[in-house]
Amino acid sequence: MGTIKLRREALIHNLDIIAHQAGGKDKIAVVLKDNAYGHGAVLIAKVASDYGVRHAVVRLEREALEIEPFFEDILILADFPPTLLFRTNPKFHYALNSLHSINKFPSGTKVELKIDTGMHRNGILPEEIEEAFEKIAKNKLECVGVMSHFRSADILSSEWFWQRKIFNELKSTASKLALKKGWNPRFHISNSAGAFRGGNDEMVRVGIALYGCLEMDNTLPQPDLKPVLSLWGNKISTRILKAGERVGYNGIYEAREDEMISTYDLGYANGLDRLASNRYVTPDGAALRGRISMDCAAFASDAEELLIFNNANEYAKSVGTIGYEILACLDKDLKREWID
Ligand SMILES: *Cc1c(COP(=O)(O)O)cnc(C)c1O
Repeated sequence: MGTIKLRREALIHNLDIIAHQAGGKDKIAVVLKDNAYGHGAVLIAKVASDYGVRHAVVRLEREALEIEPFFEDILILADFPPTLLFRTNPKFHYALNSLHSINKFPSGTKVELKIDTGMHRNGILPEEIEEAFEKIAKNKLECVGVMSHFRSADILSSEWFWQRKIFNELKSTASKLALKKGWNPRFHISNSAGAFRGGNDEMVRVGIALYGCLEMDNTLPQPDLKPVLSLWGNKISTRILKAGERVGYNGIYEAREDEMISTYDLGYANGLDRLASNRYVTPDGAALRGRISMDCAAFASDAEELLIFNNANEYAKSVGTIGYEILACLDKDLKREWID
């Protein structure tokens, strides 16, 4: 099985840039959902926590439990009620994505209310906030946050501006309403791209920027972030393909002349998108030959250890997707190690 190598220096570099942009380390919430975008949640949590980050965001309660020692609070995005076992964990905040879901949570749960400011994915409407607060209070939940999400912070258009405006207006009305209930919720809307557009919220929820793979529209300022993760394959075997011979399923690659190829221990089951078959070329110039198999792939190389990519966005482009998908689909069982 392949190896994921992580650069601590790149992660710290990215945290410095994000802290500067957000207005302090205490404003950063690191998004560690889906195994920290494939990087390894506990590995990233430790470094972020040592750096001084106090807040984290995950999708599931199970993920929150894994990183619980490292943060003061952890926001759980999936709208599932707490299981009995963790009900009392005071560090856990649960996102509320609809009015309906308020009833699912037991009294005493800390919740953060999601507002739909225009993405129309999750959250209640701004005009429903009063009703939501009543319901939250009636069910004896504690509202510790009010949040939203940008749909297009990464591109230059009117969209970021009107969503920002709706959220700012909501902040002033919601904080007054909350005060009457005895709550002092934190307000946050920005993901990575949003954080680099500006604003003055109490917190930013950064995922992809932390990992150094944020891509902004080229008309917007480009933060100088560094990718943290590189993916490496370990050689299984080497052979010479004679001119006219073919490699892999259905023999879609044919050698024009005698050519040395090797198989490496990474396939589509490990996150190597099969659409890269027979077209991807590594940063060191090794071409992928033939179809990617479930657990291995052939490259024109005989290196013992082969760099597959050191920037997920570049690999993503060869298969017509985005770095997020490539990272999030990296096999949980891959070996992960810091190299600095
Ligand atoms: C995943 C996610 C983020 C992080 O987004 P990035 O673009 O990776 O920074 C922030 N907020 C929510 C609600 C998310 O689901």
